Amino acid sequence: MLKFVIYGKNGEWSLPDPMDDVTQNAWEQVSKFKIVPDREDRVNWKIEKNKAFSIRSLYYGMAPNPIKVVWYKLVWYKGYIPRYSFIVWLCMKKRLLTKDKLVKWKVIDSDLCSLCGRGKETHFSCNFSQGIWRKALRDLGFDKPTYPLNREVDFFLRRTSGRSSDSKARKVMLAATINFILRSKNEVIFNQNSLSEEQVWG
Ligand SMILES: [Zn+2]
Repeated sequence: MLKFVIYGKNGEWSLPDPMDDVTQNAWEQVSKFKIVPDREDRVNWKIEKNKAFSIRSLYYGMAPNPIKVVWYKLVWYKGYIPRYSFIVWLCMKKRLLTKDKLVKWKVIDSDLCSLCGRGKETHFSCNFSQGIWRKALRDLGFDKPTYPLNREVDFFLRRTSGRSSDSKARKVMLAATINFILRSKNEVIFNQNSLSEEQVWG
């Protein structure tokens, strides 16, 4: 194909008159590449340093703003508990059902938090959730104020990099806490049973 459109020995393009703007644009792009007539064509995958193609690099290459997911290490790790990790994964992806979504769909009228009854339902940032979270942190030996989940994720990522048993215990604890909070919420919604912080985390 290339042979037909290359003109002259200098490898200039000799492209037919474009039939429309799109083709014109394409020709302009194509003309930026200089052809070396005596050399064989080679495909180089520029995105990867080793020029090897992979689906992963294709994905990141095509995404205009590749979003680096940092939290996956807190969800999937050696010895993770599938049931827990699945919930954590939904939580990180912000796929857990919250009342504001149900209100938008007109399934319910109020988006008041099921756990504390104050303010909008936001997973893990209300007083009740933070209370549970504080207890979990205390059990792990961390004496610190509690923050919204994205900050806690960052805190945990910095402290779970190795393969030590501490590191694993922290990840399991994070997953367990998220699960306990969610379970307390379901208890309120489905069984009208409000649990105290002590009942959830002694
Ligand atoms: Zn709340």
